[in-house]
Order: sequence, then structure tokens, then C-alpha cells
Amino acid sequence: MDLSYGSDMEDFRAQVRHFLAERWSPARVAEDAASYVRAFRADATKAGYLYRGVPKAYGGSEQAPDMLKAQIIREEFSRARAPSEVPGNGTTMVIPTLLQHGTDWQKQFFLPPTVLGDFLWAQGYSEPNAGSDLASLRTRGELAGDHWIVNGQKIWTSHAQNSHYMFALVRTEPERPKHNGISYLLIDLRQPGVTIRPLRQMTGRSEFCEVFLDNVRTPADWIVGERGQGWRISRTTLKHERSTIGGSERNDETFLKLVSLARRRSRFGQPAIRDREIRQKLIELEGWILAQKASSYRRMSLALDAQDEGLVGLVNKQLTTEIAQRVAAIAQELIGASALVDPMAAKGAKRGDEKWLDQIMGSLAVAIAGGASNIQRNIIGERGLGLPRDLTLERDA
Ligand SMILES: Cc1cc2nc3c(=O)[nH]c(=O)nc-3n(C[C@H](O)[C@H](O)[C@H](O)COP(=O)(O)OP(=O)(O)OC[C@H]3O[C@@H](n4cnc5c(N)ncnc54)[C@H](O)[C@@H]3O)c2cc1C
Repeated sequence: MDLSYGSDMEDFRAQVRHFLAERWSPARVAEDAASYVRAFRADATKAGYLYRGVPKAYGGSEQAPDMLKAQIIREEFSRARAPSEVPGNGTTMVIPTLLQHGTDWQKQFFLPPTVLGDFLWAQGYSEPNAGSDLASLRTRGELAGDHWIVNGQKIWTSHAQNSHYMFALVRTEPERPKHNGISYLLIDLRQPGVTIRPLRQMTGRSEFCEVFLDNVRTPADWIVGERGQGWRISRTTLKHERSTIGGSERNDETFLKLVSLARRRSRFGQPAIRDREIRQKLIELEGWILAQKASSYRRMSLALDAQDEGLVGLVNKQLTTEIAQRVAAIAQELIGASALVDPMAAKGAKRGDEKWLDQIMGSLAVAIAGGASNIQRNIIGERGLGLPRDLTLERDA
């Protein structure tokens, strides 16, 4: 099997490297991070490396779809630790959803500032009694003249406290069967009636929130798709969310850091890297990482052949979860009991080791965010392997 990208693509890689060497200086970031990164992103977009699928009219670089080039750009930006597209829901979910289903004015109004990171977005799907069974959601939207009036509560809404807008699933046709009664509304979060309460997580930070909507108004034409089509539109968004979570670019780097940790920590009086059990676990982990890489290549090949990727994106999300949990388990074993208190207190600790604590706790979140693992396994089993359907839930992948 030839896994090289070919000489044309290696020429392209050289161009990307040249651009990064000329234009990206990690030393400069420290001086004036925000404006340096903003200017870098603008140049990288102009050069055709970022927002490739977004038309120029909406602030993108409008490049012909090319999975290999996109992969090379991801690899090289990651290698140089250069910022890629603005992180968050705007880039990963709103832009692809509006490009596919938005009206012209919605694209013109929302996309350019989202590309620049001036509009930040929250995802208002989950509710206290609607997570895995999302179609049970109860937040109501009623059309009154030229506005929707929205009442209800969302929960686990990541970064809502810093967001300007929320794309939300709202029940607008309560008389219809549950999946057909939902609409996809865009809501301005900076208005009376919106209460955002950050939730404190076990890391001590507050990255997600409760969002209460009390007679909140949103213009009638801030609906994406038709009334009652929200479930179908939300599938586009979820597909992009899962494929973002399923990315494999950072795995190699994490693996090397884990190996470095194993070299520095000791186990039974010798460097942990010499311990048979640790070596075995590291080799198994490397196997999972290679499996995800192979699955990513498969996804790329399917796209290159213009074939439907089926459930490969979902499988990749599961692999990400599996890898994150294995990394966390090994890191925890290497750092020992101090891992859950203060990783820096241990002998041999070095700057950066404190991040393992976040990794260990974050590995639990990745098994829930974007759809809990059991639900993903059900979908893979039913749709991918043809197993009998789970009768408790009606879903659409
Ligand atoms: C870090 C993080 C960020 C998030 N950000 C957002 C966000 O920005 N916006 C948003 O809307 N939501 C967000 N969520 C919420 C997330 O989508 C939900 O937590 C998730 O869908 C699960 O829903 P739930 O928490 O209600 O759990 P439940 O649905 O109650 O599930 C609890 C457990 O039961 C299992 N389970 C449930 N039903 C079945 C079944 N039929 N078969 C087998 N097992 C089942 C699940 O796998 C899970 O283990 C975030 C979650 C996390 C962890």
C-alpha cells in the first residue's frame, strides 16, 4: 500500500512550509497575540490555506475541494503550531450548516464576521431532559408577527458566556410528531430574557453553562431551513461536530509527550519506560493511534473518490474517545496519586506536566460531548453492522 501523497502534493507541502516559515513566528505571538494571530489568519486565508470551502464573498478563500491539500495544510499548521481557523462552533458547525442550508442574506450577514471570529456561537441543543434523546426537547418557539418568542432552558451550552449568538433547536410545531416539530433558530444572546449561568466543572473552570430563555425574541427570518425541519438541519451540524472531534492530527504529538513522561517518571526503581507493563500499554495505545490514522486515510480516500463516507466519521469520534481515555489512564499511572492533586509535585516533573490533569479529566468529557459513546456505538451497530434497532430511541445519524 502506497501511503505517500505523491510528488505534486509534496511540492504543495513545501509551499505551505515556506509560507509558515516566512509568515509565522511563535516569538511574535507573545508580543501582541490577538492582532498578530488575526493578521496571520487573514494572510493564510488570502494564500488559500484557511476557509477553503467558504466563498470569497463570505470571507473565505474559495479553493477547489482537495482532501489531500486540506490534510497537508492541517499537518503543517499543526507541526508549526500555527493557528488554524478560528476555533469553536462558528467555524466547525455554523459555517458548514449555513453554507448548506442558509438563505443568501443569512450567509451575507453571519458568515464574514464568523470567519473573522467577531461572531462567536453557542450550540443550544441539550436540555435537562433531552440529551441522548434530543428529540424530546421542550424549549418552545411561537411566531408572533415578525418575531419568534422563545421560552425554555438549554444546558451544557459550551462557552455560552462568551458567545454572541446561539443556534438552537426549538419546538415550534408541538402538535406534530416529535422529530417533525422542531425548528433550527438563530438567537442573539445579548438581549433581555437571556440568563446565562456558567457551571463549575471538576477542573475548576466553567466552560459550559445553563441558558434560560424567557420570552426571548428572534426575527422570523432567523430560522435555518423551513419550520419543522430543524431535526434534519441539526444532522448537518452534528456531522461536522463529530468529524471535528474525530480529528487525529494531535495524536502523534500527545503520544510523544506520553513517552517523554514515561522516560522521566520512575516505576519500581527504574525509568517507567523500561517497565514491561507500561511498554505494553504504550504499544497498545500506538496501535489505536495507527488505527485512527488508517481510518482517517480511509475517509480521505472515500472523499477523493466522491463516495459517501458512511459512518467513518462516527467511528473516528469513537477512536478519539478510546485514545483519549487510554492516554489518560497511562498518564495517571505514570504520575501516580499526585495526578489528581498536583502533577507538578512529583519527582521529575517538568513545566507542562500540569496539563495532564486537564487531559485526564477531559478524557471523560469527550465520551459525552457531541453524543455519548453508547449512543454512537448503537448507531454504528445498527447502521454500520446491521444489528437490530434500539427500540427506545428513534434517531437519525
Ligand atoms: C464537554 C461537553 C460539552 C458539551 N457542549 C454542549 C453544547 O455546547 N451544546 C449542547 O447542546 N450540548 C452540549 N453538551 C451536552 C451533550 O451533547 C450531552 O451531554 C450528551 O448528548 C448526553 O446527554 P445527557 O448529558 O443528557 O446524558 P443522557 O442522555 O442522560 O445519558 C446518560 C448516559 O446514559 C446512556 N444512554 C442514554 N440513552 C441510552 C440508550 N438508548 N442506549 C444506551 N445508553 C444510553 C448514555 O450513553 C450516557 O452514558 C456537552 C457535553 C459535554 C460533556
